[in-house]
Amino acid sequence: MLRLPAVYNDEEGIVQTPPMKFKTLAIHSGHNPLDHHGAVMTPIYQTSTFAFRGVNRPGPFEYSRSGNPTRKALETCLASLEGGAFGFAFATGMAAETTVVMMFEAGNRIIVHSDLYGGTFRLFEKVFRNKGIEAVYVDLRDLAETERELARGAAAVWIESPTNPLMNLVDLRAMADLTHRFGAIAICDNTFLSPYFQRPLELGVDIVVHSTTKYINGHSDVVGGAVITNRAALAEKIGFLQNATGSCAGPQDSFLVLRGVKTLAIRMEEHNRNALAIARWLEARPEVSEVRHPGLESHPQHALALRQMSGFGGTFSFRLRGGQDAVFGLLESVQVFTLAESLGGVESLIEHPVSMTHSSVDPAVLAQMGITADLIRVSIGIEDVEDLIADLDAALSGDRRN
Ligand SMILES: *Cc1c(COP(=O)(O)O)cnc(C)c1O
Repeated sequence: MLRLPAVYNDEEGIVQTPPMKFKTLAIHSGHNPLDHHGAVMTPIYQTSTFAFRGVNRPGPFEYSRSGNPTRKALETCLASLEGGAFGFAFATGMAAETTVVMMFEAGNRIIVHSDLYGGTFRLFEKVFRNKGIEAVYVDLRDLAETERELARGAAAVWIESPTNPLMNLVDLRAMADLTHRFGAIAICDNTFLSPYFQRPLELGVDIVVHSTTKYINGHSDVVGGAVITNRAALAEKIGFLQNATGSCAGPQDSFLVLRGVKTLAIRMEEHNRNALAIARWLEARPEVSEVRHPGLESHPQHALALRQMSGFGGTFSFRLRGGQDAVFGLLESVQVFTLAESLGGVESLIEHPVSMTHSSVDPAVLAQMGITADLIRVSIGIEDVEDLIADLDAALSGDRRN
């Protein structure tokens, strides 16, 4: 019996997705066992080069920078999960972002969300500004201000939603429509929710960027990135740049991300459940002055969250009344949570944005954004939630301090 792959690339390289649901696609997309001696898992094609079939007759792959079957399977899978036609896998999330920014030219202005991942800020300020690509920072919650900046001329709008670490949201549909009215393209970093909880392409966004290091891989054992789009002209530029700059993912890492993504849906459900329970518990604690979680009724954009997201993910932040001293006390005394940067893995992590993930951002900018010393970010894992709450309870109560 000939078994067609669940999802494959047609002659034009466009990902063809049959009407299947997310969990099925996450497991089967991009791989047909009959193409690989019956191997149920995508093999790791650990090879730099591929034999030609004859003079001037290359096979589907020639050289692993240009294309590799393991990477291709991942690219097809991620594209189908985002509802996209073209996918690209990169060595890291930053390699994915760098490749996207390389599409622009000296003199281009890019409107960037003022509240975003520290590494993206550093990329625009320390790498691309002196090459003539200017980032203009705008609070994208403010559509009127964004419109004024678009009217001054911009090639793109760079969105992150929810933002890191404050969990502010951008109205993706409204922002994509506004961006298109000025002939610019909308790019969205979808790392925090993964395609399981938010699909920006379906809301009109042109390019989705991921750090697959986070929820998509989910096991804190690989760094990777991805770019997905529906627009053939943009896909052609990104594919060209991926090959020309060599920013692609290797086959071993592609395999690990493919393995991780198979359980994305069930992990996200559990991250979401645990994080919401902990956010509600923290909100009732006297030591906590604010909890920033889009699933809470107290979040100023809770209605937007319900409209454009199907879940809230596992990452959020909160503030302690006792300021930095109280924060450091908590960080020193947790035992189940691990003090570490990154997020999206099965284990719970806790960190202090001002001194850790966001230390490369100008202190004045941090203060203006509200990323202050009393703020803690947590990435809630999929451990038993009772153990996580007991750990925070003991640490907050000062039971473990002497
Ligand atoms: C981690 C992260 C990145 C960068 O990804 P790397 O895989 O670390 O290079 C970009 N955006 C967001 C939102 C992230 O959390």
